Amino acid sequence: MTPFPRVAYRPLTRYAPDRRAIRIDLSDNTNRWGTHPAAMELVQTASAEDLSRYPSVYADLLRSTIAETLGVPIECVTTGCGSDDLLDSAFRAAGEPGERVAFLVPTFSMVETFARMNGMEPRPVLLSAASDPVAVFADAPALLYLCSPNNPTGEVFPRPWIEEVLRVAESRGTIVLLDEAYAEFADDDFLQDAVRSTRLMVLRTMSKAYGLAGLRVGFAVGAREVIREIEKSRGPYKISRLGELAAVVALRDTEGWVSGVIREVRRERAQLQEDLEARGWNPLPSGGNFILIPLGGRSCTETTAALREKGVAVRPFPGVPGIGDAIRVSIGPRDELDQFLVAFDEVVA
Ligand code: PMP
Repeated sequence: MTPFPRVAYRPLTRYAPDRRAIRIDLSDNTNRWGTHPAAMELVQTASAEDLSRYPSVYADLLRSTIAETLGVPIECVTTGCGSDDLLDSAFRAAGEPGERVAFLVPTFSMVETFARMNGMEPRPVLLSAASDPVAVFADAPALLYLCSPNNPTGEVFPRPWIEEVLRVAESRGTIVLLDEAYAEFADDDFLQDAVRSTRLMVLRTMSKAYGLAGLRVGFAVGAREVIREIEKSRGPYKISRLGELAAVVALRDTEGWVSGVIREVRRERAQLQEDLEARGWNPLPSGGNFILIPLGGRSCTETTAALREKGVAVRPFPGVPGIGDAIRVSIGPRDELDQFLVAFDEVVA
């Protein structure tokens, strides 16, 4: 009998975040200000054909809008059903089964899953070991995944460090996936570097700053030769018609809704940082729309459960290397963060 499932799949489990309904959900870094008003209107006034016909094969209207709004050539742009889909497609296109995917830990948990789904070997490298950019190449990976601002730490890697990693990657032929899911909330990005490179692909999502997580739209900007192959491994019809049209109006953002959200996230992030520090906590400095709070020896599962009892959801991170148990709190409007602080004060009292 042929064994089923294939060996590489056996350690995989279904992704099981706590998605029970709750009053204030600060657990998944989606947009707490809601969704883009122009995208909402578009979905509400959709035609029957928008639903009954197939969407465009490779979402070329969205690709050209991304190219225009971000100032990059269209050949350097591809899209996916969320940026998750692009991670998966990149692994499928670039890694032979058995090859290695290196990534710094802690980072986005799905990386390990997508590596295994594609028969590749996940190779975690401790963040602290990576001060030397060459250290991340120790296992001769076919692919290197970096996330900046990093989920869940919020860390923004210094530009010279990433540039050095990219130089080594180009010389070795390693594909670098730089996940910029949260770049809109930080000060720098690598989109133009990706256009100039031969091995870099930058991943972006419409799920955070643009408020379209439910429509599942992501995109990537990268080296032409990398993008060409990713489009093939991704396959046709991955973006729904409404997803494409909504993403187009949200990217154009003629109302300035996205820039308003970004301004508020930055302001509320600084305020929450200050409020937590004033209470004696040491939240990590963050470039994303979330903050990681090390709990100083308390259990993150118990703290998260107690917060949930009070109507606030956060994400627990047990045993973060070098940090211990921590909770990650998404940045939302002031009243939601105030309610989080009240609940947190009571839970840790
Ligand atoms: N990358 C990172 C770092 C993320 O945190 C997330 C979502 N939590 C994603 C990618 C996936 O985003 P999408 O909704 O575009 O699949």
